[in-house]
Amino acid sequence: MDQKKINPGVKCVVNTCHYYSEGDHCAASKIEVQHRNAHSSTETDCATFKPNNQSSMS
Ligand code: SF4
Repeated sequence: MDQKKINPGVKCVVNTCHYYSEGDHCAASKIEVQHRNAHSSTETDCATFKPNNQSSMS
């Protein structure tokens, strides 16, 4: 069973991610954030992101 357990300390609004959970939560057991030597938040990304193929584009 793919039981979803959210990370209460992580707010994520990437609703196209497989791990995204209702209420802007992340349900991955752990996440990795890139990149090394980033200078601003816009240069950072969640490397754990996985596209949610079941999501319908609207
Ligand atoms: S894996 Fe990353 S992009 Fe996906 S919901 Fe979690 S924090 Fe957001």
